[in-house]
Amino acid sequence: MDGELRAWCEREGLMRYAAIGDEGGEAIELVRGPLVALGPGDGDFVEASHPAAVGYPGKPLATMTLDDYNRFICCWLEAAVAAGDARCIQCGRLILAGDDLPDPETWDAIFVEKELVGWMIVHFDCKKKLAKKLKGLHPFDLAPREAPRYDLSHVEPPAEEVATDAAEHG
Ligand SMILES: [Zn+2]
Repeated sequence: MDGELRAWCEREGLMRYAAIGDEGGEAIELVRGPLVALGPGDGDFVEASHPAAVGYPGKPLATMTLDDYNRFICCWLEAAVAAGDARCIQCGRLILAGDDLPDPETWDAIFVEKELVGWMIVHFDCKKKLAKKLKGLHPFDLAPREAPRYDLSHVEPPAEEVATDAAEHG
């Protein structure tokens, strides 16, 4: 994880820590930064990206609030959907791009800040089962991959009034 991003996540309380004992009885501290789920499987989780690494034109990370970063991740998720890389965390079906999706395909981007900190995409119809799914997710059981890079240099710098915790589609 990028050092500046890690420092920012620590400031925002988004890092999670756990201690385990190794074979010699020494304590090892495990650290997990925020994750993004691109699907329902344990292998579908990737590390959250540094905005500058994908050319995001918004304000610099150091001056971002959590709301600003949420806007960035929403743009990132839109790019993942456009690339055909995003599946519903609940049912695993491909998330479709577009502004006029039929009801069964409409989806939300969701930010979770519990034991697991991260962002995910879920169909409206799949939301009622999401609480159970989240209960079974533990950040230290997951081995997130490096995030795919989507070029976000062309996105409009998001307006402050954009909804921050969920982007609605359809
Ligand atoms: Zn679904």
